[in-house]
Amino acid sequence: MNTRRTTVRMFTRISILIILALLPCIVLAAEIKSVLIISIDSLHPDALGEETTKTINEIMKKGVFTLNGSSTAPPLTLLSHSAMFSGVGPDKGGLTENNWESGQKQIDVKTIFDDAKRNHFFTGFFYSKEKLGYLISGAVDQCQLDQDFSVENAIEFFKESNAKKFCFLHISGLDRTGPVEGWMSDGYMEELFFIDESIRPLIDLVISRKDYLIIITSDHAGHEKTHGSEHQDDAKLPLVMTSDIAELTQYQEMRYHVTQLKNILINILDFRK
Ligand SMILES: [Zn+2]
Repeated sequence: MNTRRTTVRMFTRISILIILALLPCIVLAAEIKSVLIISIDSLHPDALGEETTKTINEIMKKGVFTLNGSSTAPPLTLLSHSAMFSGVGPDKGGLTENNWESGQKQIDVKTIFDDAKRNHFFTGFFYSKEKLGYLISGAVDQCQLDQDFSVENAIEFFKESNAKKFCFLHISGLDRTGPVEGWMSDGYMEELFFIDESIRPLIDLVISRKDYLIIITSDHAGHEKTHGSEHQDDAKLPLVMTSDIAELTQYQEMRYHVTQLKNILINILDFRK
């Protein structure tokens, strides 16, 4: 009887030791260490496809996506990005002014960067339109405005160290081609092809760091040579997500509104803290 009790005790102790030894591995394996969010300004979801956007298509195949996302009303660059960052659209007390210049008041509500800091990320914001400077707050560790090289700046940001990194990258190009040559025009598709090629090294880098979350989205689309109107195409945007450790199936073909990005990130990052 005593021998049996001793054996049971020994097994219990060994089991506890094994669980304790494995616990740090289990917790560490569940932690996202690299977050990359790319907003391709003025990207119409219908423009995504095998030939034009090989890189994004690969991410779509690996992960989840919806091509039925919707922007703010009106669907304009700064309003939409403000809603993305803060979770609040212009109709609910969010930003209603689509213009901003350096020196003017910046955002004073909590943004996705505060959520990232709460999860101990080093944060970077790389953008290519001055007005997005409105979105810089104390929770942004590193930021840079660069019309043409925001992708390269994001690559440098991830290369600097192996620390936990959270990066929001805004890419211009389609917002210039759309109004001149038209949304979905040959020139627009060509510009998108180059944007898709340009982000490949960045995406490969983030994937190589492991424990990542990559999101590709946009602020709004457009139609013919205009945007920002009530035309249904103007409010369209895609949401593409992939991760090697986070469970994302619940987001497949979801009814996505731009104000939901903040909560999606909270759900993924806080859950995995
Ligand atoms: Zn825009």
